Amino acid sequence: MFDDLNDLYQQVILDHCKKPRNFHELPQATCSAQGHNPLCGDQLKLFLAMEGDAIRDISFVGSGCCISKASASLLTEFAKGKTKAEVEAMFEQVHQMVMSGQVNGDVGKLAVFAGVHKYPARVKCAILAWHAVMAALKGDAKPVTTESEEI
Ligand code: ZN
Repeated sequence: MFDDLNDLYQQVILDHCKKPRNFHELPQATCSAQGHNPLCGDQLKLFLAMEGDAIRDISFVGSGCCISKASASLLTEFAKGKTKAEVEAMFEQVHQMVMSGQVNGDVGKLAVFAGVHKYPARVKCAILAWHAVMAALKGDAKPVTTESEEI
């Protein structure tokens, strides 16, 4: 599936897939959310330790395909130290990007997922962690599933 992605992007995704960052539970978490993508079998759980409106620490556990793991790993790297509003804004940018393939604004390393738009089934893998983090920030206790909404 990587034929159309350039080598650098492929390397970043493979690196985060093989060595996911912040891949552990977070005992001091103040909120968490689970995500499930039944189409692919991706399952993950995100843990957030909030301090006011800021994400002091964030981690995840779970299993799934390379795209879903790399996406969660890069999400945790991005979100650590950010505010709720910053993460919500980036969710919109990433969502647009994986749907259209167009990179708008500065998304940093998250640009590696722009190529995913060519593989509609993989879009759900790439966006799963983002739906989970949004659910955690909203305080939704119900696990999110990519089947429950249009993404
Ligand atoms: Zn997947």
